Amino acid sequence: MPTTIFEVMSGLARETGAINLGQGFPDSNGPDDVVEAARRALVERSNQYPPMAGLPELRQAVAAHYRRHQGLDLDWASEVTVTSGATEALAAAIFALVAPGDEVVLFQPLYDAYLPLVLRAGGMPRLVSLSPPDWDLDPALLDRAFTPKTRLVILNTPLNPTASLFGREALARLAERIVAADAVAIADEVWEHLVYDGAGHVPLMALPGMRERVVKIGSAGKIFSLTGWKVGWMCAAPRLTRVLARAHQFLTFTTPPNLQAAAACGLAKDDSYFMEMRRAYARSRDRLAAGLRAAGYRVLPSAATYFLTVDLPGSGIAADDMTFCQRAVREAGVAAIPISAFYAENALTSVVRLCFAKTDATIDGGIEALARARALFA
Ligand code: PMP
Repeated sequence: MPTTIFEVMSGLARETGAINLGQGFPDSNGPDDVVEAARRALVERSNQYPPMAGLPELRQAVAAHYRRHQGLDLDWASEVTVTSGATEALAAAIFALVAPGDEVVLFQPLYDAYLPLVLRAGGMPRLVSLSPPDWDLDPALLDRAFTPKTRLVILNTPLNPTASLFGREALARLAERIVAADAVAIADEVWEHLVYDGAGHVPLMALPGMRERVVKIGSAGKIFSLTGWKVGWMCAAPRLTRVLARAHQFLTFTTPPNLQAAAACGLAKDDSYFMEMRRAYARSRDRLAAGLRAAGYRVLPSAATYFLTVDLPGSGIAADDMTFCQRAVREAGVAAIPISAFYAENALTSVVRLCFAKTDATIDGGIEALARARALFA
């Protein structure tokens, strides 16, 4: 398997001292009260194996959180499993649900973990390409991807790296086809709280026919800007949860109990915390977008996640995304992510992803360096 582009670019940034707008991790250290809850639990509570499905308090907190924020009705005891990050949830769900020869519908650009895991499980990928600027689900392409052998669909919404999210109509088109194929879906919704400008995240599980067919994946690392914690979860109807648990038991079995307890505290935070987080990230996004526009870049819309993308030809840059990113990190001092790394075939090579979950000083330094990078191609 290849080394992921995130590690490649972060490695180059460390080596060259470049500003890192590549890999998606925030400059901040997460909310103090959540970090303090982890410290307290580490010192005062058990550090032995917690239950395999997760601490009851976290599973209860996940169910309560989704009831409050997304109107979902989940039974914590039979429908929520805690995992070591969304990455483990993805692996467990794919290994539990895909048998050799099963067809799996995936959308590209795709998050880099999906395809290697599907191939390891023996699945046959059926790729559907999304196109800028709206990255929507094209009904004709969907129809071509679904066949009688379709077993699983893997959807990411909001979508990394495009910073877009799927609306209710698009999700309904997909849901219809999942039901018709008698398939199941993994909905990777780790970016669910990072949506801007009043846009609402629609969980795939809320669409008609989807309640019994969707594995919804979330991540405390994303919700609380604590990406190193690796606390995630899978929510699914009991018949799915039973098989997901079998796969989870032989991947990690469990997740550090103090981090689980702290994630439970975080999920119970007031609505104002989540509103303030969105406001702060939207402000950083606008700062980066304005600076890039002033430097001559064509900035594509960013409705969600901590990313925004720029269009290279529209920015007057006659190079593919990989060449641009290699030269930007080595010669202009800024790391970015080429979007072609998120494709398995027919890659789009004209778009670059930048992370804005950074301090103002880092963003401003990144804008200056990106102005230098653009000049390299003038
Ligand atoms: N899915 C997507 C779409 C992501 O962007 C990420 C993190 N970059 C993950 C899964 C992994 O999340 P975690 O760190 O909780 O494993």
